[in-house]
Amino acid sequence: MAGKIKEINEADFQKEVLDKKMAVVDFYSTECPPCDALASKYEALSEIYGDDVAFTKIFRQGNRELAAKLDVSGSPTLLFYKDGEVTGDKLGGGILRSDIVRNLDALVGDGKAKELHAKIKPVETEADVVVLGGGPAGLTAGVYLAQAHIHTVLVDTALPGGYVSTTHQVSNYPGFIEPQQGFMLSHYMSEQARANGVEFKVAVEVDNVDLENKLVKIDGFETIKAKKLIIATGSKPRPLGIPGETEFAGNGVSYCATCDAKYYQDKEVVVIGGGNSAIEEALFIARFAKKITIVHQFDHFQANKEAQEKLLAHGAVEVLFEHEPREFKKYGNMDMGVVVENLKTGEKSEVRSNGIFVFVGFIPNLEIFGDKLKLDQWGYLETDVEMRTNIDGVFAAGDVTSKRYRQITTAVSDGTIAGIAAGKELE
Ligand SMILES: Cc1cc2nc3c(=O)[nH]c(=O)nc-3n(C[C@H](O)[C@H](O)[C@H](O)COP(=O)(O)OP(=O)(O)OC[C@H]3O[C@@H](n4cnc5c(N)ncnc54)[C@H](O)[C@@H]3O)c2cc1C
Repeated sequence: MAGKIKEINEADFQKEVLDKKMAVVDFYSTECPPCDALASKYEALSEIYGDDVAFTKIFRQGNRELAAKLDVSGSPTLLFYKDGEVTGDKLGGGILRSDIVRNLDALVGDGKAKELHAKIKPVETEADVVVLGGGPAGLTAGVYLAQAHIHTVLVDTALPGGYVSTTHQVSNYPGFIEPQQGFMLSHYMSEQARANGVEFKVAVEVDNVDLENKLVKIDGFETIKAKKLIIATGSKPRPLGIPGETEFAGNGVSYCATCDAKYYQDKEVVVIGGGNSAIEEALFIARFAKKITIVHQFDHFQANKEAQEKLLAHGAVEVLFEHEPREFKKYGNMDMGVVVENLKTGEKSEVRSNGIFVFVGFIPNLEIFGDKLKLDQWGYLETDVEMRTNIDGVFAAGDVTSKRYRQITTAVSDGTIAGIAAGKELE
């Protein structure tokens, strides 16, 4: 094992962890992508902190009793110990380097931490192409590039997979007869990219991207110098920011009609929003739901007339104009409540339904890139047919780009084009 790390078993735990002044334990598993993502960070940090803190690794499946005793139920899990007692955070999943550093600094104390930080030297690495974002678009671009023997580094602020990994079921991705669990589909995609040779730097912090010079700085100390960049950072639903929204997202509150409307056959739903996407999505939901209540802040819809007329012609649509949602509630398994406020009277009431759809727009993940990229009027990246942006050598793919339909298939299509086109420019 590289770095200053000791692989131990339950029998060594007392001596190697509890009896040490300071220790950190990494419970890992095999065939565990988040464990792989952690391994290089853990190893590098052991070189810096390893003389002061005992760095250990324990194979979780081989030490089940110890794991159970310590309430470790997932891999990876990092535990920090001082004088035989657990201290700091219990870290799991896509563990960020900065979270480990914060806990190690707390262990060693301020003075020592400063001294050790001085040991961290900036590193410059190289790649032919850096793909930013490991959703379907970025992973597909990676597959095409790696298959063309182009050294490709994929950088993601989270674990790879993008939205698909959090989607319950995907039933419209070609090639699968039965609906696929989103996390399995994204696992297949990321393992395919890895198997083809894409180098992953995931669960990292992206500090800065210099688009002109193709420099990507991550985790405060590493700069990756590339010849081409592909931006595939996706978008996120614009949140309403009201109580209950985060809590029930994916569990009664949905942001995607194409994905979830089918679960509301003969049920009642509430749709929040009144723009084009809200009305068009509501029209789609109307194929399934027996009743739709639309909550809209203005006294008229902003959507195109035709879509509005079609929707209002649908017998089972009720509209609460000049109302705003204030809180989401959940009763039992599939029974939701929306507290709405009448903007004219200030009166509050609650609308009950089986599910809530929020369509108040999406925000492309572009904050890190500054203001040199050409955007459309909604803030999405403009590209040509080969997915080139306005900056030479910078391509874009997937939901972050300007287009009408945002699905896994369209992201995969963009990633294909961006991967091939970027590769051609390197010939
Ligand atoms: C709730 C929901 C359910 C859906 N269900 C379906 C469905 O059933 N079928 C379907 O076809 N489509 C579905 N979609 C749409 C589909 O998921 C997206 O169209 C698709 O994931 C877009 O892929 P992408 O690669 O462009 O972006 P994403 O999947 O969003 O991936 C972007 C990646 O970029 C990373 N990232 C973000 N910022 C940075 C940064 N600064 N640096 C590096 N990395 C960054 C993110 O962590 C993420 O991994 C759904 C969407 C939602 C919101």
